[in-house]
Amino acid sequence: MPESDCLFCKIIAGEIPSSKVLESDTTYAFRDINPQAGVHVLVVPRTHYEDAEELAKAPKELADVIATGVEIAKQEGIDQSGFRLVFNTGEHAGRTVFHAHLHVLGGEQLGHFGRPGG
Ligand code: 5GP
Ligand code: ZN
Repeated sequence: MPESDCLFCKIIAGEIPSSKVLESDTTYAFRDINPQAGVHVLVVPRTHYEDAEELAKAPKELADVIATGVEIAKQEGIDQSGFRLVFNTGEHAGRTVFHAHLHVLGGEQLGHFGRPGG
C-alpha cells in the first residue's frame, strides 16, 4: 500500500484528526477510536513500517515505540495496576491497519490471551 493511502500516516500528518496522548521525535500516540479497555492507546512510529517484522529492522524506532508505550502507562496512571502491549499480525490476530502499531491496553481487568471469550 502506498504510504499516501495509509490511515496512520494521515493521522501522523494531521490530515485525519486524532486524540493525541503523547509524541516524540520518532513516535506518535493517540487514543483508539474503538477502545477495547478503559485505556486503549495506539503508538506508531512516524516512519511507515508495514508491520512488526519491518519495524524490528529499525531497532532504535522499535525501542522508541515500546518506551513510548511504557511512558503512556505512567501518564495514564496504569503502570502500577498493570497494562498490556500488543502487536497484532495477520488475519488470525484480527489485524486491520498496515502501519505498524503498538496497542497499550489497561485501566481495568483484562481478559486472558487467546481464544475469543478465553
Ligand atoms: P489492528 O486491528 O490493526 O491491530 O488495530 C487497528 C486499530 O486501529 C483498531 O483497534 C481500530 O479501532 C483503530 N482504528 C482504526 N481506524 C482508526 C481511526 O481512524 N482513528 C483511530 N484513533 N483509531 C482507529
Ligand atoms: Zn503509514
